[in-house]
Amino acid sequence: MLNKTTEKAYISKSFQALGTSNRLNIYGCQSQKIPELIIKRVLEIDDRMSAFKAESDVSKLSQSAGHSFVTIHKDTFELLYRANEISRLSGGAFDITIRPLVELWEIGKKGDFVPYSSEISERKKLVNYKDLLLDKKSCSAFLQNQRQAVDLGGIAKGYAADEAKRILAENGVENAIINFGGNIVTLGTHPNGRPWEIGIQNPLAPTGVYLGSLSVVNQTVVTSGSNEQFFIKDGVRYHHIIDPRTGSPAQSDLLSVTAVCSSSVDADALTTALFILGPDEGLKLLKLLNAEAIFITNDLKIFVTEGLIGAFKLAENQ
Ligand code: ADP
Ligand code: MG
Repeated sequence: MLNKTTEKAYISKSFQALGTSNRLNIYGCQSQKIPELIIKRVLEIDDRMSAFKAESDVSKLSQSAGHSFVTIHKDTFELLYRANEISRLSGGAFDITIRPLVELWEIGKKGDFVPYSSEISERKKLVNYKDLLLDKKSCSAFLQNQRQAVDLGGIAKGYAADEAKRILAENGVENAIINFGGNIVTLGTHPNGRPWEIGIQNPLAPTGVYLGSLSVVNQTVVTSGSNEQFFIKDGVRYHHIIDPRTGSPAQSDLLSVTAVCSSSVDADALTTALFILGPDEGLKLLKLLNAEAIFITNDLKIFVTEGLIGAFKLAENQ
């Protein structure tokens, strides 16, 4: 949609990639080519990083696990490198080699499958980010043990969103907001000069019912919660964030975590880690990554880190 009634052109575009819906809202857009450039770039990232495409770097890496280093694209290398750093900084709460457990729990499929604890213990042994070796010189990677695999499901959207922002800025765009499957990235302010207002979803209410809102400028806002993909069996809530220490969905007191910082990759990985670590342990990690967060507990209590006081507003009906 190209709206020329205002002085600057506004383009809004949706597309499917990375297993989710993505939207671009670009203000002051000089050319239709800009969204096309972004979509092409995101599809390229999807081809390299999908666990479901046989030719992807992620598939090549798991096929050569326990055997040999494999050359991967610079994009994948860069992302795995950062993922490994965040795995380490989070003490392994975020673990880029989580895939064997994600597969066992059938995450991404609809169902209510709970594996035997013996299978969980077996798979848990395969999860250890320290087994992912990266060689910068040859841009190659190696998983040390057979049956190991990486899972970029927790961060590839962040990478794509950061790339989209880079392309926008390089093409002279000053105001934009994009949403890649829950990864929101803002460029500059709203065109009216004020901060962007981002709704913080009430995890227990239908989509679009907010507990509050967050004012941001040029930042990324990423939310992860146990309300997105879950089932309840025998009174236990099973969802898509796995605690590598137990091998099962994290049983924290949280319903959702929102991370705010300048890198969407970091924010994406952070939400996963913070969901497992909780607010107390999570604070250290937030400081290390220069990020802020909002935690929403099972009984809908809201914790906001110091840097967001003033930016976060409770909804009027709260
Ligand atoms: P989404 O935005 O799709 O809800 P999240 O950013 O919340 O995704 O990340 C959840 C995804 O990350 C899971 O679907 C899985 O692929 C992966 N994942 C789950 N647990 C972990 C973990 N402990 N460390 C790294 N990745 C994880
Ligand atoms: Mg995440």
